[in-house]
Amino acid sequence: MTGRFAPTPSGRMHIGNMTAMLAAWLDSRSHGGRMLLRIEDIDTPRVLPDADRWIMDDLTWLGLDWDGEPVYQSQRIDLYEQALRSLTRRPVGGVPLIYPCFCSRADIRAASAPQEGDGFQIYPGTCRRLVRGHPDEVRERLARGDRHSLRIAMPGNATDGDDTAVTFDDRVFGPQSFDLARDIGDSVVRRSDGLFGYQFVVTVDDLAMGVDSVVRGRDLLRSTALQTYIRERLVAEGFAVGEGAAAPDAEQDARSGRVAAPDRPAYAHIPLVDNATGRRLAKRERSLDMGALRARGVTAAQVTGYCAWLLRLIDEPEPCTPADLLPGFSWEPLRERHDDRSVDPDDP
Ligand code: GLU
Repeated sequence: MTGRFAPTPSGRMHIGNMTAMLAAWLDSRSHGGRMLLRIEDIDTPRVLPDADRWIMDDLTWLGLDWDGEPVYQSQRIDLYEQALRSLTRRPVGGVPLIYPCFCSRADIRAASAPQEGDGFQIYPGTCRRLVRGHPDEVRERLARGDRHSLRIAMPGNATDGDDTAVTFDDRVFGPQSFDLARDIGDSVVRRSDGLFGYQFVVTVDDLAMGVDSVVRGRDLLRSTALQTYIRERLVAEGFAVGEGAAAPDAEQDARSGRVAAPDRPAYAHIPLVDNATGRRLAKRERSLDMGALRARGVTAAQVTGYCAWLLRLIDEPEPCTPADLLPGFSWEPLRERHDDRSVDPDDP
């Protein structure tokens, strides 16, 4: 088994993502598996200098180790370019799989339904229609150098015979089903500022690094459907896959547009941690970040115990070490009770 820590270095770790890191470590290490560290610094404007070092220091402080050198997304642009090139060949639903989109954020907001609760904005398809109906105009705008992002097209619709559903069995939240056209929509793989999109690089990395177990917050549950689709397309186009990932039916899958494949990672999404007032715990909740907790003299064993309690591994938030939790680690207690849990910033 190969798991990964995938923190974004935009701030200090907090109780919420520390809980995800602990869960990922327990899952992999309890199976004698590998644990990789990937610093998700692709969104350079959000990166805080030194945050990678704080994150590694906090992981080590807690007793969570990883194998090999950390991987930095900012150093893997060539890999993402190669992956993107592999995707541009085959059309889907009457448009190229990867197509240019000239919409600004304001255009999209104006043409869409409001954002979904998990922050997902379903693209209304404006440029998909443009690409299909007015290819000359698109060519002209590209030749003129109009600012554009690149989107990946979802399969057309079920009435065209496309398989538009992605299903998976989450180890915590159970069976999941998302309709690619309705619940996901055409998604950005490269932003108009030239940076690669988060969903795309995570998918490329998990595939290339041979990750077969993904543990992360519940807010990314829907993203798993999108990442599954991108992954299947990469595999179908023969993108160089990592260890543990194979493309047995690549041609068959590409012809049928089928998005199921045998080599998907296992997924466990964990409940979000809210503060005492019930708001989603954000990085700005400084009192729950590791820097503030450590400055207040909170010990690593207390933080671990608290995270373990959030994972329903222990009944009370008693101090313990990650190694104490390894014997008998299981997703079962969390699978049975996975409501989001509140924490009081003044308490832990
Ligand atoms: N980098 C993301 C975060 O810090 C996690 C992405 C993932 O685990 O796939 O929230």
